[in-house]
Amino acid sequence: MILLSACLAGFNVRYDGGNARNDLAAQLVALGQAVTICPEVMGGMRTPREPAEIQDGNGGDVIVGRARVVNRRGVDVTKQYLQGAQLALGIAQRYHVQAAFLKQKSPACGTQLIYDGHFSGHKIAGIGVAAALLRQHGIQVFGDEELSRERVRPWVDSAVWPLLLENGR
Ligand code: SF4
Repeated sequence: MILLSACLAGFNVRYDGGNARNDLAAQLVALGQAVTICPEVMGGMRTPREPAEIQDGNGGDVIVGRARVVNRRGVDVTKQYLQGAQLALGIAQRYHVQAAFLKQKSPACGTQLIYDGHFSGHKIAGIGVAAALLRQHGIQVFGDEELSRERVRPWVDSAVWPLLLENGR
């Protein structure tokens, strides 16, 4: 089973009420090959909501208490991000997930890039809170830019693979 950011599958869970739909992600869910998580919503935040960024570190630093997540109004939402990450990990473990494809640049889901914590639009190398926790527990974590049929093939049932190819035509 594959784990996906819910916004990639087309669910309107982003901070602005929209999504980041990726056709392959939606097909993987429809074919029963992926489950979705939205760590921000699972942490108790509403949609739409203020955007948030990690300050003074990355998701791994947040997990050990060395950095925090703050929204654009200056409210500390670290607790919500930690709770959302734990619930996401619980789902991943329940479904025996081996690989996750997550939305890049998010303070929860980013895998290689996050914003710098100053709401300036500037991006830095770093990982989000949920992505970091998943990786710490042995799950392979990839960004959405790596989402392709060939990349997900190891985790797709062989009986379903022809359907995925057909849907891609
Ligand atoms: S937390 Fe992850 S799944 Fe939820 S909207 Fe942000 S990037 Fe998408």
